Amino acid sequence: MHQMTLAEIARGLADKKFSSEELTKVLLARITQLDPQLNSFISLTEELALEQAKAADARRANGESGALLGAPIAHKDLFCTQGIRTSCGSKMLDNFKAPYDATVVAKLAAAGAVTLGKTNMDEFAMGSANESSWYGAVKNPWNLEHVPGGSSGGSAAAVAARLLPAATATDTGGSIRQPAAFTNLTGLKPTYGRVSRWGMIAYASSLDQGGPLARTAEDCAILLQGMAGFDQNDSTSIDEPVPDYSASLGESLQGLRIGVPKEYFSAGLDPRIAELIQNSIKELQKLGAVIKEISLPNMQHAIPAYYVIAPAEASSNLSRFDGVRFGHRCEQPKDLIDLYKRSRGEGFGPEVQRRIMVGAYALSAGYYDAYYLKAQKIRRLVKNDFMAAFNEVDIILGPTTPNPAWKLGAKNSDPVAAYLEDVYTITANLAGLPGLSMPAGFVDGLPVGVQLLAPYFQEGRLLNVAHQYQLNTDWHTRTPTGF
Ligand code: GLN
Repeated sequence: MHQMTLAEIARGLADKKFSSEELTKVLLARITQLDPQLNSFISLTEELALEQAKAADARRANGESGALLGAPIAHKDLFCTQGIRTSCGSKMLDNFKAPYDATVVAKLAAAGAVTLGKTNMDEFAMGSANESSWYGAVKNPWNLEHVPGGSSGGSAAAVAARLLPAATATDTGGSIRQPAAFTNLTGLKPTYGRVSRWGMIAYASSLDQGGPLARTAEDCAILLQGMAGFDQNDSTSIDEPVPDYSASLGESLQGLRIGVPKEYFSAGLDPRIAELIQNSIKELQKLGAVIKEISLPNMQHAIPAYYVIAPAEASSNLSRFDGVRFGHRCEQPKDLIDLYKRSRGEGFGPEVQRRIMVGAYALSAGYYDAYYLKAQKIRRLVKNDFMAAFNEVDIILGPTTPNPAWKLGAKNSDPVAAYLEDVYTITANLAGLPGLSMPAGFVDGLPVGVQLLAPYFQEGRLLNVAHQYQLNTDWHTRTPTGF
């Protein structure tokens, strides 16, 4: 039962082959049995899950239908869930029970999805390895000595290990696509503004975007359908109609113009990954796509720009966690300053503290123009590169990451080494564009992802290209041994 995709579950439920309650019990038992190896969950919500599953079964018995009605999922632990701990992977929020549901959580619940729990993540979504969580590192089911990617590593590891079919995640600089690549999943970062950020605890507000992690493009379409849409509670939410993503999955790739940026194949890319990307290009050519070399000349400036903008926004967003309004409070403070200092010093881990300091510095008087303003100018150049490229091509293709998943601890002493691994993903966040990662093969038994980028609001195009590719390849069907 645990091997089923969301699409298969929807068919099984509609055909009354099993009930949502039965499926939910099977998956909860599987999580209890296998998750100790992975640490992919921070909280399990068994009671809520069984309640939601029974309610979904009752709705189906009353003649209702829907792809998500009775479908088991989990939420990255930065989506607020009413009355349930929402920790953001931090000691700071270890005992925070959100007073309301995030829009994404509420929408999926209304569609009948069943919440099995809250998944582990890098603290405040800062990281690419899921090692900065206060609840401990998450392991990659493909090799337990390797990282699953981050910051949505808990969602990725759980779905890859078949503990559940799909989960929500967020992507500020790659945190949906990079863990998807590291664990052989399909993950989609939507256009900025497509999915409401209301109730999604902020890391860097101008970059954060929620999206689906699943095994197939077909399932990403189903989950995105339930997440996307205008929300008046989010001032950056965009009031555009949501297309039927599943309906866009049948289109031919004949004549599709795929741009391959020459900058992507530089010295930093593992040659074995380069070869797999070339194979995926050939596969898409067989389906009728036309390949064109393009250039994204400002790509080399994207990492430094991102690692100024994201920490700057984080330092501002995280100022609310002061032990008074929100978050952990230290014992017996001497005075107000001592309360702030010790509450924040005890509540935040080292990576979060590093970013707050970098961000506060970049925003301080005298340095603002040199760092923050400069970074914003680079951001515009990165966006202009994409706009020029999309005049010539329909999608852009390349690797999701320069290397496969590294060993746990391998980059702990050198944060910049980890930042450099984000080179292919962060440009989409700087420009606000949608991006998808899908399985493209293996290197030393570790999964490799190919990334597709599209113009604003062309999520349907990305999902269709990935779906056509998945109809003709079987990388996405491979299961990690032991799961
Ligand atoms: N690795 C990037 C960072 O650490 C991206 C994280 C994310 O997308 N949340 O900021």
